[in-house]
Amino acid sequence: MPDTVTTHSEDETIAVARAFASRLRPGAVVLLEGDLGAGKTAFVRGLAIGLGLDPDLVSSPTFTLIQEYRGTPSLYHVDLYRLQGAEVDDLGLDELSSGEAIVAIEWAEKMPQPPTDAWWVRLEDAGGDERRIVIVEARP
Ligand code: ADP
Ligand code: MG
Repeated sequence: MPDTVTTHSEDETIAVARAFASRLRPGAVVLLEGDLGAGKTAFVRGLAIGLGLDPDLVSSPTFTLIQEYRGTPSLYHVDLYRLQGAEVDDLGLDELSSGEAIVAIEWAEKMPQPPTDAWWVRLEDAGGDERRIVIVEARP
């Protein structure tokens, strides 16, 4: 069943993601969808805090595709914004989640075959600073 929460600031979204991080098991994949400016990167910043990593490392990786923030666990931060379907397949994202690391993927709706055992986090701009965040739990 999806969890839905409404936030009213970037900090609130970060706090939601920070709390959500405690639900993630090793190797978990978090698929983020939502328009530009919806708050996907802010959510990943909150994930980093929740995982005990430095949130200042988290920037929009639009030009790098994949960033790794090292820690225990590490966090891979992926942004598919610039890619097309076949290019996404070539990234080998499956391998990123084969170990303990957590994987967060922005623009996951571009994945031709998203993993079925992943979390979905959808962010919607509800006007002004309001964002609706829908979290659908990973199927084991
Ligand atoms: P995305 O990665 O989805 O493109 P970002 O996280 O980079 O989005 O940017 C979200 C922008 O929206 C930031 O400028 C942030 O300050 C602003 N913002 C305003 N209200 C919120 C909110 N409730 N949650 C998250 N971001 C918000
Ligand atoms: Mg982003």
